[in-house]
Formats: sequence, structure tokens, C-alpha cells
Amino acid sequence: MLALAAWINLPAVNRMFDRSADRVAALPPASPFRSGQRVLVLSPHPDDETLCCAGMIQQAESAGAQVYVVWATAGDGFEFDAVLTQRVLDPGPQQMRRLGNGRVQEARRAAAVLGVPAPRTFMLGYPDGGLFRLFTTHYEEAYTAPHTGASAVYVQDALTPGAPYTGRALEDDLRRVLDQVRPDVVLAPAPQDFHTDHHTLSFIALRLMSARGQEDRLRFWVVHGGLEWPIPKGLHENLPLTLPPLAARLPWERVSLTAEQEQRKLEAVNTYQTQTRILGRFMRAFVRQNELLSPEPLPEQGQAAEAPGNAP
Ligand SMILES: [Zn+2]
Repeated sequence: MLALAAWINLPAVNRMFDRSADRVAALPPASPFRSGQRVLVLSPHPDDETLCCAGMIQQAESAGAQVYVVWATAGDGFEFDAVLTQRVLDPGPQQMRRLGNGRVQEARRAAAVLGVPAPRTFMLGYPDGGLFRLFTTHYEEAYTAPHTGASAVYVQDALTPGAPYTGRALEDDLRRVLDQVRPDVVLAPAPQDFHTDHHTLSFIALRLMSARGQEDRLRFWVVHGGLEWPIPKGLHENLPLTLPPLAARLPWERVSLTAEQEQRKLEAVNTYQTQTRILGRFMRAFVRQNELLSPEPLPEQGQAAEAPGNAP
């Protein structure tokens, strides 16, 4: 920890941050949300919708758009979390399922703080940490989640209670949500997001929206952006959110938050009490002057092949 603190305080790191902050200031602003638009936030876990998009959600709502949130998992795979919140050293399936149901409650509270009422939220409840397996080896045959022992959706108020943990069931649920919401804009994780659940959900979103001929309605965000991002950790409301190193070449657009929107975002982050005890400094680092959104899942033509060392 000390070494990390020393590294973060190095002048070179500060210079890196300043350069990055200049790049963010020069980004074009994302096109504003419009009245009557239907906006769907695709969130792998409870808390991602807030970290990536709390400012955008508020701006969409106040522009007269309707925001919907769908969570693919209940976030029930985080063992250390259960150890702290339920004071047991070796959490069993029951404790992990209790954690899952607790996080579902937190997610709905966070959405309400951001102006999204419960009827406009969908909890799918597939296994935290298991989406890649569902999409590959367990597309047809149910997967058993190691932490909860579950092989079917068990969380309260799920969209399809008892749905098997298969890729097909997950896609069917997402299709149901898309049919119901008919979104004009979908805020989805970018394929570069480091977390396996995140990039898997990104591929699923690309596949489902392409099948509808609507891939141009997708906008992309990153939460796990690599290299200690976002730096610095902790609450720094007066700093910009810089570009995630793993996806620095996406054609990013800037969403500027008002001080009030930042406060509301912090309030939503703080509803995740099971998470903030352990990940508070990471989560609060997303409460910044801006959020980032890319209209494309891949770097612009000509940028992808360029080696980092050859950049001007
Ligand atoms: Zn996540």
C-alpha cells in the first residue's frame, strides 16, 4: 500500500494525470438526451449503472427521457463481502444467497436515488462471475455457481424466477427486456472492460442489438479500465475522470456533471453499503466532473493497428 501511495504521488504520475486531464477537456461533448427517448442501462452487477452512468441517468431523466436499468447478475460472487457484512469466516451458499438478495435491494435503492423507479428496473439474477461460462460452455446446459450452489435464478423479484443458468436463458431474458423497453439508446459495457462479466455482456449486447439491426443505438462505457484506473482513488469531485488505459483509443465523448449531479451520484454510490466497505475508494473515484461514453465499441479506423510506442 505504501509503495502504491508513493507511486501515485510521483511527479511523473502527476504529469501523466495532467496530460490525461487535458485530453478529457478537449473531448467533444456527448449528444444530450432528448424528451421522449427511452434509455436502457445494461449493468453487469449492481453498482455498475451508478459508477458508469449516474450523471447520464439524471441528465436523461431531467431532459424528459425515460431511463430503464437491467442488471444481469445480483453480484452474489463476492465472498470477502459476505465475510465482512455477515460476520462469518467461511460463507456458505446460504450466506452468499443472502448477499445476493441484499445487493438486489441496494441496486433498486440506488436506481431510485437517480430517479429510476422500481417498475423501470429488471433484475435478471444470473451468476456473478459466471457470464463467460454461460455464453460458452453453458449455453444450453445449466451452470452451477460455486459460491451460491445455485444453478437457476433464485433472487427475489427476478424477471424470470427459476430460469436455468444458461446462456440461452440469459439471452431470452435480455430479449424480453429489449422487447418491453424498445430502447432508443442502450448504455452497455465496452468490450475492452477488463472484468469478464463486463466484456461478456458487451458481446451479448452487440449480438442482440445487431440481430435487430440496431447496433447504432449502443453507447459504451468502462468501469474496469486497467492500470489502477481511475486514479487517484477516493472522492475527488473537482477532478476529471480521465481516459481508461485499456480503452484509451475509443472515440470518447464527455458528459459533464453539475455539482448537484455529482452529489446525487455519491449518494447512489453510498447506498451500496455491502460494497463500499471494501471497495469504497475505487467506487467513489467515479464521482468526478465528467463521465465518458463512446459511440463505437472499437477504436476508429487506423488507430487500432498503431503501436502505443509509435503514438506521436
Ligand atoms: Zn461490475
